[in-house]
Amino acid sequence: MSRIAFIGLGHMGGPMAANLLKAGHELQVFDLVPAAVEAAVALGARAAASAAEAVDGAEVAISMLPASRHVEGLYLGADGLLARLAPQALAIDCSTIAPASAQKVAAAAAARGVAMIDAPVSGGTAGAAAGTLTFIVGGEAAALERARPLLQAMGRNVFHMGASGAGQVAKLCNNMALGVIMAATGEALALGAAHGLDPAALSQMMAVSTGRSWATEVCNPWPGVLENAPASRGYSGGFGSDLMLKDLGLAAEAAMGVGSPIPLGELARNLYALNARAGRGGLDFSSVIQLLAKPAAGA
Ligand code: NAD
Repeated sequence: MSRIAFIGLGHMGGPMAANLLKAGHELQVFDLVPAAVEAAVALGARAAASAAEAVDGAEVAISMLPASRHVEGLYLGADGLLARLAPQALAIDCSTIAPASAQKVAAAAAARGVAMIDAPVSGGTAGAAAGTLTFIVGGEAAALERARPLLQAMGRNVFHMGASGAGQVAKLCNNMALGVIMAATGEALALGAAHGLDPAALSQMMAVSTGRSWATEVCNPWPGVLENAPASRGYSGGFGSDLMLKDLGLAAEAAMGVGSPIPLGELARNLYALNARAGRGGLDFSSVIQLLAKPAAGA
């Protein structure tokens, strides 16, 4: 069993840490939100007063933070975790961040003798709770093999996409498709509803037809269609619209870097920016349907 420092116990990190505890690992945890730390302590983790204290004596550091700036702030600099981790330690960053940022932090880790992988995830909060996440990994194969038993305690599938940063590139490709598909599904349901169709019946038909997707079957954006979808609880929980906006911005940056056209990704990025402007940035990203449905979906 490993001695793990787990930093970032939000929607995703909280349940991921819970699954590591369930698998018998020893966790020292830190989050800026005390209630998140208390929830992990109730499951058997030890609270640390800071990220630096959490890595004290740890063999592995796992981070699950919102964005690039948080990850760089955590690991880099004189007070950063890389300056405190033992030289043989392993660092696993599961946040979704810019590929260039992941490479920068991994290079700094390598300079300190710390092995590091980028291991962003797919599967949402339900996958995090059920321990069925997909890990999308960039970094050296040897580091991934060290991490694999821990990833398997939190997920079901592990994909090694290539060198450092490759996990982030692959994750952005997945999320760009997801952002487009969610908006397209919302548009289709709104069109059907405007013609008097029942969105639940339309979704059931689409779920076994060629328009099927995770957006129709698991995270349906129309309130009341799927009992467990964020849409049916006021779009709370789930994957924040602002996090989707961040990922589409990262995809746009990545596309510009190689001159790859992403017309639908850019359009989707603008839709999620409008969703944020309408005050729904903190809600699940499926709330983007509210831009498209008239009257508001489910009203
Ligand atoms: P979240 O906002 O719920 O959690 C982030 C946590 O990090 C918060 O509890 C915050 O207090 C903490 N934090 C921020 N800075 C910190 C610091 N310096 N030290 C300690 N704690 C700090 O976000 P989330 O939904 O858990 O997402 C985390 C990452 O996972 C993001 O990069 C997101 O894009 C990605 N992701 C999310 C989902 C999802 O469905 N929510 C799915 C796949 C990937």
